[in-house]
Amino acid sequence: MHRRYSGGHGGGRSHLDPANEFKNLRPGSYRAEDLVRILTDNAAIPLKKKLPKTSAEWVIRCHTMEAIPTDTKFLDTYAKRWLAVFGHGYYFDALEKDGDEETFKGIEVIDPKHPVLLDPSTGKYMTHRGFFHPLDRKIYVVNGDFGREDKMLKILGTILHEALHAFLNTFVCDKKCCEDFLASTQGLGLEGHATQWSNAMFELEKAVKRDLGLKINTGFHNSIGAEMMQGFNPEDDDLDRWRVPDKIINFARERKTQGEREYRRMAIERRRATREMVAGRYSIELAYQWKFGH
Ligand SMILES: [Zn+2]
Ligand SMILES: [Zn+2]
Repeated sequence: MHRRYSGGHGGGRSHLDPANEFKNLRPGSYRAEDLVRILTDNAAIPLKKKLPKTSAEWVIRCHTMEAIPTDTKFLDTYAKRWLAVFGHGYYFDALEKDGDEETFKGIEVIDPKHPVLLDPSTGKYMTHRGFFHPLDRKIYVVNGDFGREDKMLKILGTILHEALHAFLNTFVCDKKCCEDFLASTQGLGLEGHATQWSNAMFELEKAVKRDLGLKINTGFHNSIGAEMMQGFNPEDDDLDRWRVPDKIINFARERKTQGEREYRRMAIERRRATREMVAGRYSIELAYQWKFGH
């Protein structure tokens, strides 16, 4: 499907505008900043104008529920339902589709020792709250330790956060024309939490607070901090706008491991390794280079 349209951009020619086809987005076709623009424009519209009445009622019922499921199987059903709500409200139903090789494959709640969490380069289980897996093309949410924090706010935040990675990863142009930009501080960066992602996450978090009255925990500021430690170098104006606390900024700056040039090089390398693995060219060398963001 993608191949048919891929002549429409690249080679110096302009990209398609997702605003013209938000009801039928095509994988791998748009500039990141255009995708972020339609997400933030759409986030400004109240959820109740976009949801069918039954879903809205369901949201309210969940909202007032005292506890969310502890059992992984039940939590999986819960997460699927919320992804549908968020998908409809904030992601143009683009995360509902199935059957196409290139599209998104949904969400799955897993236990902390699930095989997919085994990191091939360390032999240890990763401790992510959730992540978008670019080979499986699905979101995994870990039914792990949520500490003393409200589990519901963390689970919903994780779904919204990973859905943004899934949306951008699925629809962003992954050709040569966008490679440099995506790897940069202005694009998606190394772990996926650079400027474009942060601009969208900020507005989506705000929208959920407005629509559902829930201060969900998407880990937004911590993700920016972690990205900064890797070499992400946002403008001070951006950090202000995203309301990143000084504590996180200072902590990250003190522990910055590499300069912007190296950051960009690693981001390009990782995107290439991911593309190779998606294309089925799996090798141990690639597996070592390839780690998914979270
Ligand atoms: Zn491009
Ligand atoms: Zn993330």
